[in-house]
Amino acid sequence: MRDRVARLQDKLAERELDAVLITEPHNRRYISGFTGTAGYVLVGRREAVFLTDFRYVEQARAQVSGLQVVRHGAQVTDTLRELLQAWGARRVGFEQEHVSVGWWERLRAALAPVELVGTSGLVEESRMVKDEGELARIRRAAAIADQAFRAVLDLVRPGVRERDLAVALERTMQDLGASGPSFEIIVASGWRSALPHGVASDKLVEKGDLVTFDFGCVYEGYCSDLTRTVGVGFLDEPKRRMYEVVEEAQRAALAAIRPGMTGREADAVARSLIEEAGFGEAFGHSLGHGLGLAIHESPRLAAQSEEVLRPGMVVTVEPGVYVPGVGGVRIEDDVVITPDGCARLTFSPKELLIL
Ligand code: ZN
Ligand code: ZN
Repeated sequence: MRDRVARLQDKLAERELDAVLITEPHNRRYISGFTGTAGYVLVGRREAVFLTDFRYVEQARAQVSGLQVVRHGAQVTDTLRELLQAWGARRVGFEQEHVSVGWWERLRAALAPVELVGTSGLVEESRMVKDEGELARIRRAAAIADQAFRAVLDLVRPGVRERDLAVALERTMQDLGASGPSFEIIVASGWRSALPHGVASDKLVEKGDLVTFDFGCVYEGYCSDLTRTVGVGFLDEPKRRMYEVVEEAQRAALAAIRPGMTGREADAVARSLIEEAGFGEAFGHSLGHGLGLAIHESPRLAAQSEEVLRPGMVVTVEPGVYVPGVGGVRIEDDVVITPDGCARLTFSPKELLIL
C-alpha cells in the first residue's frame, strides 16, 4: 500500500494541503488494506497513520501496511488533533462527498485552528486504474458470475419464481467463493423486464417472457456486474427485434472502446445505433460505469462524461431498451481497457437463448 500512500502524498502537495483525512470505506481500504468497518486514514506530507479503536487494532496490525497503526481513545478527534499538532499541519483535507454535516462540525470544533478543506475524488482518481492484483480479483469475481449464470439457466422455465432464481444465483456465487452479491440481484421477467432495476419479486416466469438477470458478486473486496436477457418458451417478433438491436449495440461498443476515448464517445457508439433502430427513447440510462471496490465508480460511460479512458480501467458496457407493457432487454459485460482496445472479463454467451 506504500505506493498508494505516496500517490496521495503527491496530491497533497499539488493541492497545498498539509494532510488529508480519509473516511470513505472503499478509499480507506484502498489506501490501507484494512477490511474492517471502523477506522480512519490520516496522511500527511511525510506521515501516514491508520487509526482505529480497541476492537480492530489487532486486525489492523495484521492487514495494514505502509501506515503506522494507532489505537485512538474514546474521542478519535482528540487523537487526530494531537497528530496534526505534532505534524504542524494547518490545512487539512476531508472527503466532502462522504461526511455528514454533524461529523464535519464536530471535527471543525475539535481541530480548530486547523483549516478544514473539502476535497473530492482524491483517492477515487487513483482507484480508476487497476493494478494486477486488483484485476485478478475482478477477473475471479467475473468468472464466478459467469459460472453462476450457467447454473441458473437450468432452472429457468414457466412457473419458476423470480425470487427463487435470485436465491439460486446468490447461493451458487457463494459456493464458488464470493463473499456475497455485489448488489441486490435483479431478476425481471415479462412486463417487469421493462423495469431497468426490477429486483427479483414473487412474480412467476411465464411462456413468452423476456427475463433479465443483472447480478454480480464480491470477491476479496472486488465486484463483478453481469447482465443477460433470455426468452422463455418463445419470443414474438417485437421482442426478438429488441434483442437484436441491443446485442448489436453492445457488440459495437465493445469493438469501439479504446484508450483516449471519452465516456461520452463510448456511450454515443451504442446510443446512435439504438436511436437509428427507433429505440432512442427506450434507452434511458447510460452505457456503463467503472467497477472495482465499489459497484459503481469512475469513470462513467455516459452522455455527460468527459472522463478519458486509460489502460487498466475496468468498466461495464450495458446498453438496454425498455418498452412498457412489452418488456426489456439489457446485455452487460465487464471489460478492462487495454493499450489498443478493451478485453472482456465476462464471457457468458450473448446469442439469444430461448429456454
Ligand atoms: Zn449490472
Ligand atoms: Zn452495471
